[in-house]
Amino acid sequence: PSKQRLLVVANRLPVSAVRRSVDSWQLEISVGGLVSALLGVKEFDARWIGWAGVNVSDDIGQKTLTKSLAEKRCIPVFLDEEIVQQYYNGYCNNILWPLFHYLGLPQEDRLATTRSFQSQFDAYKKANQLFADVVNDIYQEGDVVWCHDYHLMFLPQCLKRYNGNMKVGWFLHTPFPSSEIHRTLPSRSELLTSVLAADLVGFHTYDYARHFVSACTRILGFEGTPEGVENQGKLTRVAAFPIGIDSDRFIRALELPQVQDHIKELKERFAGRKVMLGVDRLDMIKGIPQKILAFEKYLEENPNWRDKVVLLQIAVPTRTDVSEYQKLTSQVHEIVGRINGRFGTLTAVPIHHLDRSLDFHALCALYAVTDVALVTSLRDGMNLVSYEFVACQASKKGVLILSEFAGAAQSLGAGAILVNPWNITEVAASIGYALNMPADEREKRHQLNFMHVTSHTSQEWAATFVSELNDTIVEAQLRT
Ligand code: UDP
Repeated sequence: PSKQRLLVVANRLPVSAVRRSVDSWQLEISVGGLVSALLGVKEFDARWIGWAGVNVSDDIGQKTLTKSLAEKRCIPVFLDEEIVQQYYNGYCNNILWPLFHYLGLPQEDRLATTRSFQSQFDAYKKANQLFADVVNDIYQEGDVVWCHDYHLMFLPQCLKRYNGNMKVGWFLHTPFPSSEIHRTLPSRSELLTSVLAADLVGFHTYDYARHFVSACTRILGFEGTPEGVENQGKLTRVAAFPIGIDSDRFIRALELPQVQDHIKELKERFAGRKVMLGVDRLDMIKGIPQKILAFEKYLEENPNWRDKVVLLQIAVPTRTDVSEYQKLTSQVHEIVGRINGRFGTLTAVPIHHLDRSLDFHALCALYAVTDVALVTSLRDGMNLVSYEFVACQASKKGVLILSEFAGAAQSLGAGAILVNPWNITEVAASIGYALNMPADEREKRHQLNFMHVTSHTSQEWAATFVSELNDTIVEAQLRT
């Protein structure tokens, strides 16, 4: 029998397109979590629908790009610059992202934000409708449509309006906040109602799912049940599906000669010092200033460690045109400069801060030589860096210090040292505990984490979500 078709709809396609000439394109595949998750799911015939990240306003461009992308099983949604500005930069990144991470709605320039809110929301709905049009065009009976993330909360409703029989799932990759936070959103009800049009709604953790269900009961007055949300006899199934990583990809990479060479170099470079590592996009949700201040406190209180430990912080630039992000960058630079000035010597500094990304192999080598990884997110949907670190630690058995506000704390809580990143004293104490941890305790903690990371993979996550979606629909048919 032919495989079931899976239409994966996400804001960005897993390829970036660069225009070479009027009618030719260069495509670069990006291997994010979602891509490797779906590569591993062999029982489905997957296709991607999303924005290619470029503005293509001419007919020839649209036609030729569509053709090139088809070879990669990708179907583009074309968004013009105005829509991208209002929908993506505006509503998604300036309103929903901060709200879902408990940073609240924008407060500076309150009046301007309130006035542009409606037009941004209109653009959001319009963009979601454009995604729905493309899905509807290629949809065939029996296909499963899997919508991803906060960019596409309007999509389930648009799709069901086209075709009530479409199998529609929606998964959120960020936290879903407490209903007390969600209710401040002017479009709170419309978004919830639209998401509920899906057959299955998924979150990383049970807490996020619970928050969503209580938002639906309190704001919409619907009924919350152990299965999900019910309204006038219609059930929307709501459940937790914690994402994982393709752990084998990391474990295999460590065997490569170039990665082994790199590991050797790093070991020599930092010989005699313990290596602590942070890897984050430079986003306010990652708690980078809090992490660095805790490290400073540790150095302050433990002078004997000052020349024996180094913190490597990889801070990947993100949303660099937004002023809040520019402010965060200078704030972090200022703190790092102060601490290096205070505790550095002529030959060494305690913090190496990099404003750049690393390629996959360099990242694996860095994970492998790390003694203590520090994840201090103030809020984080899951945090895959913590998983990747664990996957690369089979020989070193280093310690993971992990924020209790990252979704990963629900799954790696037994092996990691959990901290409240706002409590600098607690994080500093945990650094000391981790640096001094005896080998047998490190080994035990690592084993717990490693077993989890290697058995709860991204492939398994994707397969579970889709089979649960299929089951949900069978059950709904049995009820009627
Ligand atoms: N990453 C990368 N290059 C870097 C640093 C990070 O490709 O230089 C990747 C990392 O391997 C991980 C992802 O970026 O897969 C970050 O995912 P996470 O869930 O930790 O945070 P997000 O950035 O999605 O909020």
